[in-house]
Amino acid sequence: MSTVCIKKDLLSQILGNAASMHPREMLLLLRGQKSKDQITVTDLLVPPLAIHGRGFTGFQAQMLPIDFSLVGTVHSHPSGVLEPSLVDLHHSFGRVIMIVGFPYLNESNIAVFSHSKEKLALKIID
Ligand SMILES: [Zn+2]
Repeated sequence: MSTVCIKKDLLSQILGNAASMHPREMLLLLRGQKSKDQITVTDLLVPPLAIHGRGFTGFQAQMLPIDFSLVGTVHSHPSGVLEPSLVDLHHSFGRVIMIVGFPYLNESNIAVFSHSKEKLALKIID
């Protein structure tokens, strides 16, 4: 069981980005540091060739530059459902699948999962 740590201001950036894209989905890459049982998100990156639209945000992992500091992705669910879809699980990469759901107000609208759909703990740091 891993814990995902994220700074408060990064979290507000994610929520703001999701809100501004609504009702479309947004997707950002998470960059950070990994240790055995903790992942700390330090930066957000806009994926290359992102195609925003309804349904899954068009994005192909094989088009990414090789960057070992990428720890996962965050994307929005305009439906508000805080569960990864099958598509999410199949198209994800990195260790973390972060989902931010409508109405994108605070951390109660965010859930973090591993590839095996295990829910991870989210810790907000200052
Ligand atoms: Zn999704």
